[in-house]
Amino acid sequence: MKTLKILSSVLFLGLLSVSLFGQERPPIIDMHMHTGMPHHVPEGTPALCRPEPCQGEGEATASSELLQKTLDIMDRYNIVKGFLSGVDLETVDQWKKAAPDRFIASPFIFKPGTPDSLQLKKDIAAGRFGGIGEIGAQLNGIAPNDLVLEPYFAMAEGFDVPLLIHTEGIGPYLPSFRSAAGSPLMLEDVLVRHPKLRIFVENTGYPYLDEMIAMMYQYPQLYGDISTITWVIPRTAFYDYLRALVRAGLGKRIMFGSDQMVWPEKIGEGIEAIEEADFLTEEQKRDILYNNAARFLKMKTNQ
Ligand SMILES: [Zn+2]
Repeated sequence: MKTLKILSSVLFLGLLSVSLFGQERPPIIDMHMHTGMPHHVPEGTPALCRPEPCQGEGEATASSELLQKTLDIMDRYNIVKGFLSGVDLETVDQWKKAAPDRFIASPFIFKPGTPDSLQLKKDIAAGRFGGIGEIGAQLNGIAPNDLVLEPYFAMAEGFDVPLLIHTEGIGPYLPSFRSAAGSPLMLEDVLVRHPKLRIFVENTGYPYLDEMIAMMYQYPQLYGDISTITWVIPRTAFYDYLRALVRAGLGKRIMFGSDQMVWPEKIGEGIEAIEEADFLTEEQKRDILYNNAARFLKMKTNQ
C-alpha cells in the first residue's frame, strides 16, 4: 500500500513537471551547446562571469553526469534541437547517439587544421556531422579572415550546413586570445567570398554592436546567437545589447543558444532571461527561442 502511495505521488509529480515545464512549453532550439570545455574543469568550479571582480553562480557538473543533466534540462524546457560541438569528437558521437534527433553534431575547431579538412569532408558526407564549429580560432588569436580557415568556410557553403564562429570582443582568459581579432568587420572578406554560407556569430559579436549591425545589414546570410551573454555578463548589459539589435530591426536573425559548457543549469537561466525581457513582444521571444533558428536550419515547422 505504502509502495503504491509512493508510486502514485512520484507519478503525479512526474506529470506535474511535464505539464509545467514540458509539454505545455512551446518548442525551443538551442543553437550553442557543448559536450564540455576544451580543457578539464574540476567539478564544482564556479560558472564564468564578467567583468571582474565578479562571482559566477553555479558549480560545474562532473563530466560523467553532464550528458544526462543536459538532456533532463532539455526535456524540462522542451528543447527540441541543439547545435552541439566539442573538441573530443568521440564524445560528440556519444551525445548524438544518446539523442539522435535532438543534436546537430559538429566539431569544435580550436586549432585550424584539427580536424583535418579532408577527414571532415568525409565525416560530413557520411552524416557524422551536420555543421561546422564552433570555430574558436580567435582563442588562438586568429581572425576570421585568416586564410587558414578558408577550407572550413568553403566546406560549409558547399555542403550547405550551418557554421558557428566565435567572433566577438570577449572570450576565455587565454594568453593567445585577442579581442581585436574578434571584430565582426573581419568577417567581411569571408561573407563576400561565400554569399551562400549559413554562418552565425557567437553572442552576435558582443560588444561590437555597430560593426555587427553593419555586417548584418549588408550580408543577409549572417545570423547571430545570444548565448553566453545571457548569463556571463550583467543582465543590464545583456538587455542593452539585445534591445539595440532588436530596435535596429534584426529580431528575425537572432537565435537563442545557451553555451552551457559544464554548467547545464545555465540553459534554463538563458531561456528565462529572454522570457523576462519586458521590451520584447511574445512574437519576438518566440522568434529568438525558436522561429529564427528553424528558418536558419531549414526546418519545416514554424511555431
Ligand atoms: Zn561556445
